[in-house]
Amino acid sequence: MDVYRLATLGLAGMRRPLDRLAGRWRPEERASEWALGLRFPREDLSGLDVGARVAFAAARADALWNHGLTIGLTSGARSVAEQQLLFDEAVAQYGSESAARQWVLPPTESLHVQGRALDVRPREGARWLEAHGHRYGLYRTYANEWWHFEHWPQFIGTNSRPAMRPDPRTPAHRL
Ligand SMILES: [Zn+2]
Repeated sequence: MDVYRLATLGLAGMRRPLDRLAGRWRPEERASEWALGLRFPREDLSGLDVGARVAFAAARADALWNHGLTIGLTSGARSVAEQQLLFDEAVAQYGSESAARQWVLPPTESLHVQGRALDVRPREGARWLEAHGHRYGLYRTYANEWWHFEHWPQFIGTNSRPAMRPDPRTPAHRL
């Protein structure tokens, strides 16, 4: 276990009894969110859909307490303007809209704009989320992006899941 994981787990472990003593709701999640905020100080959780935010907190508390794994958010909610800029940059970089769509979708289609997509790190955290995220309605949906997860709570408790697509060019799952 690397030093960051150990430190995060240690800090969360110190914080948990305080949250419990204060009678706070979900002390395990509060403590892990607090410690992960120190571990990943630049992550921006604002703008996420409330359900996605709650699911992510619960999932990464599970990863931290039960598996000693830290999961950070690289990119969550994006404004229309931010997504448009990313898409325009990708078009310039890859030479066409269809090539750009292999990696970035325009604002009208991106679940990041809806606050329901989460790009996570590090890779081992993403691997854990891929294996366990279904309990929280979080699913990896692109074969070419190990970091990209989407919140689809409709699938919790079913034997189904949103399709794993080769890349963002394939049309999204519709419910
Ligand atoms: Zn993404």
